[in-house]
Amino acid sequence: MTDEIMGDPGPSGRFGQYGGRFVPESLVPACMELEEAFRAAWTDKAFRAELDEILQRYGGRPTPVAECVRLSEELGVRVLLKREDLAHTGSHKINNVIGQGLLARRMGKHRLIAETGAGQHGVATATAAALFGMECVVYMGEVDTHRQELNVFRMELLGAEVRPVSSGSRTLKDAVNEALREWVATVDTTHYCLGSVMGPHPYPWMVREFQRVIGDEARPQCREMLDGADPDVVVACAGGGSNAAGIFAGFADSTDSALVAVEAAGGASMTTGMPGVLHGMRSALMQNEEGQILEAESISAGLDYPGIGPEHAYLGELGRARYVSAGDTEVLEAFQRLARTEGIIPALESAHAIAWVIAAAGTGELPVGSTVLVNLSGRGDKDVAQVRDILKGGA
Ligand SMILES: *Cc1c(COP(=O)(O)O)cnc(C)c1O
Repeated sequence: MTDEIMGDPGPSGRFGQYGGRFVPESLVPACMELEEAFRAAWTDKAFRAELDEILQRYGGRPTPVAECVRLSEELGVRVLLKREDLAHTGSHKINNVIGQGLLARRMGKHRLIAETGAGQHGVATATAAALFGMECVVYMGEVDTHRQELNVFRMELLGAEVRPVSSGSRTLKDAVNEALREWVATVDTTHYCLGSVMGPHPYPWMVREFQRVIGDEARPQCREMLDGADPDVVVACAGGGSNAAGIFAGFADSTDSALVAVEAAGGASMTTGMPGVLHGMRSALMQNEEGQILEAESISAGLDYPGIGPEHAYLGELGRARYVSAGDTEVLEAFQRLARTEGIIPALESAHAIAWVIAAAGTGELPVGSTVLVNLSGRGDKDVAQVRDILKGGA
């Protein structure tokens, strides 16, 4: 790999001791074909121009950076938001699925498969499949299909087939296994549209590159607002870690910006996990002493993955990024506070990043007068009913 932080990991797909391609022999050719296709597409100006154009005209890019006037006044810290909640489908996930959909079409594939937990990546993939006129099958743990009925219906509306997975714990990690299995059998026609910066090489690198548009836009947007300076801190929530990787990539070489990723306290693979292998990658994973993967738990379904992308494990080890966690109670408070002070209802996932800012301003970890850019990864409409049930004592 190169010395450059957040650069091309090279053919090994390694980020220090993390990453790689830990898959059965039968999956290696599919991964290699994908890596080669992505490498060629990513250096092809025509591909990049077409992707940019779709992200603009269909995806709603560029998203703005907004000044939080009232919250900043209350906290004594200048808070800026990168508004990924304003992108089509209401989150950053659209950047990745449009990138992979366009790549799949370039590879001559007419079918997308995906895994989904809460259903958001399934909905995003179904959206891209509809846009490109492709078939779409989404694997979803049977337990999750009941918990997220509305998203199952959304995917069906968009023309996708949802296949419940009844193996293992019948949740996200079983859905990933099933999607990988199906990919081997159908690789001639099918692209596996993986949802975050995880899995076997080239996914962690490729998905980060499709999400780096967030950071590439945000850096000049911030400089315009901060008299040419970078923010003191760039903060994002992390489940698999794709929205964090996307915004970090734009600031990786900044000597002025500290990078902070906030995991759910019940899914904190960086602070409570250990190195291990899962879903084709070596990374930081929540596991017991026998190496058995633990179930993550959070009010925010999008953050309850027991691992994190391998590049994050590496950035943490290097000390380039810091990994912290936020608990459900402070997240619920941050959710309401952003709504009241700024008129923005954030996704519960994104509220983790806000919760850290509020806490760090309180302890002085973010000194008075410092500037912080928060990646507001998504909007909270999807979470309103759940938050109502919690706050009004229903659940
Ligand atoms: C899916 C999702 C996340 C978590 O995924 P990452 O890969 O960690 O970005 C965060 N925020 C929102 C709004 C999401 O939909």
